Amino acid sequence: MRLFEKYYPRGYAKSVFAIDYTKLYEKGCRAVIFDIDNTLVHHGDNSTPEVDQLFVKLHAAGLKTLLLTNNDEERVLRFIKNIETEYICDAEKPDPSGYIKAIEKLGVKRSQAVVIGDQLFTDILGANRSGIAGILVRFIKLPEEKRIGKRRYLEKLIMLFWRHSKHKKFNDIYLGES
Ligand SMILES: [Mg+2]
Repeated sequence: MRLFEKYYPRGYAKSVFAIDYTKLYEKGCRAVIFDIDNTLVHHGDNSTPEVDQLFVKLHAAGLKTLLLTNNDEERVLRFIKNIETEYICDAEKPDPSGYIKAIEKLGVKRSQAVVIGDQLFTDILGANRSGIAGILVRFIKLPEEKRIGKRRYLEKLIMLFWRHSKHKKFNDIYLGES
């Protein structure tokens, strides 16, 4: 459905840990721009050793990283206690300006970066508006969270169309075995 195309990600992964970053590098990717909340950790949570380790792994693989969040600096500083990374807070996603600033900060071309986030209407829409490939990851939800918001249902619907669209063929570029 054309109406939804601006929300279509270039790839989908179960989690940030399911992405084959080596493959991304081989495809020319040099920088990864992450959303934090519900992408790397549950909303508001501190980082975990697993996430800290992921950043070490990415840097060792030759990838630069940047956190792009609509949240404030206090939240970012609390999150990056054990992570060395660039960040931009109060980004006002899906506005493209934060994404463009991110690319400049990282010193890469748009085509050399990917955006990884859990929301089509902010992370992915902004990536598309900025001409950067977006990868949607399943949002992190605690077991006791039974209800999901209306927006999440709409996202599910859009992803249903996405799965049947030609865009799906890009998916294999980004997904590793999880
Ligand atoms: Mg998020």
